Amino acid sequence: MTNNLLLIKNARILDPGAGIDDTGDILIAEGKISKTGKDITAAGAATIDASGLVACPGFIDLHCHLRQPGYENKETIASGAAAAARGGYTTICCMPNTNPPLDSAATISYVRELAARDAPLVRILPVGCITAGRAGKELANLTELAGAGCVGFSDDGSPVSDTRIMSLAMENTAVLDLPVIDHCEDLNLSQGGHMNDGWVAARLGLKGIPAAAEEIMVARDIALCELTGAKLHVTHMSTAGSLQLIREAKQRGLKVTCDVTPHNLTLTHERVMKTQEGLQTTLAYDTNARVNPPLRSPADIEALIGGIADGTIDVVATDHAPHTAEDKLCEFENAVSGISGFETAFGVLMSLVHSGRISLNALVTCLTTGPARVLRDNAGTLKPGACADLVLLDTGREWTVDVQDFLSKGRNTPFAGCKLKGMVMATISSGQLSWRHSSVRIS
Ligand SMILES: [Zn+2]
Ligand SMILES: [Zn+2]
Repeated sequence: MTNNLLLIKNARILDPGAGIDDTGDILIAEGKISKTGKDITAAGAATIDASGLVACPGFIDLHCHLRQPGYENKETIASGAAAAARGGYTTICCMPNTNPPLDSAATISYVRELAARDAPLVRILPVGCITAGRAGKELANLTELAGAGCVGFSDDGSPVSDTRIMSLAMENTAVLDLPVIDHCEDLNLSQGGHMNDGWVAARLGLKGIPAAAEEIMVARDIALCELTGAKLHVTHMSTAGSLQLIREAKQRGLKVTCDVTPHNLTLTHERVMKTQEGLQTTLAYDTNARVNPPLRSPADIEALIGGIADGTIDVVATDHAPHTAEDKLCEFENAVSGISGFETAFGVLMSLVHSGRISLNALVTCLTTGPARVLRDNAGTLKPGACADLVLLDTGREWTVDVQDFLSKGRNTPFAGCKLKGMVMATISSGQLSWRHSSVRIS
């Protein structure tokens, strides 16, 4: 790429925002999309033959945990960004539950500086806290956080339990015109629970978390959204009831959006049970399937897939939550929640496309234009002039998840050893390769 020209030949170009799904070429110059179309030539351009591959805008993740500062043993901005690039992500929003939490201009600026230094090829957008110290007692200085460049507000990991505080927060965020990214959980109801309330929890002897623990908060915050005019983004939404509340709120014209995770779309609470070879009946469990919100019932998954198909769900977000082996090598009750999700997201989600449940176009929309709209961001498109953030996908390539091969420090995933069909072959950020599979050649 000596003269900063990169030419991608013969790709299936899929750009849902621009309504494009056609075979052709993409020319990138000086980090921007120069043009797309048939039979493009450019003297001296580095060229990738993308025959058989899909080219679409780089993925945007609205919800991930990079763990830095404070938990560098779980992940760093550098390792998290490398894993994100391998997963096809060119823009990621990191949650503020670090140590210290991102509740001041100084901490937001610190993360932005680290990102620029350690991960220049992935655009990292910090989310600021709603409350000081994520303690839920008093508001953080939201105006100061916005001024420092945060793209939204969340106490993720925890809900904002105090309704008055949340109402005040939304009055402020409405003026700032930034979304509240809402972890919806009624702690009084979920307290002591470890997995979805249902027959699996009963069989394993674990206390369950009812769907209502999420839905009560979704309903409350929709009411506050209506009261304040704030933008509400319900993150890692996981139940049929939450989906219905959001569907109705959207029909009433409220500024409500939502995301779901790859694991909540594809795994049921039955995955918490570990089937061990040679054992016919077992009450063993897999702590890698512990996640908050928990893996839900088949009926919930059916509803969520329907929500993607009908457009009620705007975004798929990873909630990439890396942890150490020690965090998961314990009793289910003591295991921390979370899944290291960047590197499996696309392959996992493609199972829904291969089974005919959702279209590739709907999936790519939820990974690109959907999150771009929530962020009011210019990314998520391949239109000429746009930043050259894109991804090359092999939708038919089969591979087995090997956690030892992860770029993320977190190897905590219930998809370990799973056979997936669909792989990110190359990720291009501002015209530069941030990830490339060894089979992708540049000439
Ligand atoms: Zn959360
Ligand atoms: Zn989270």
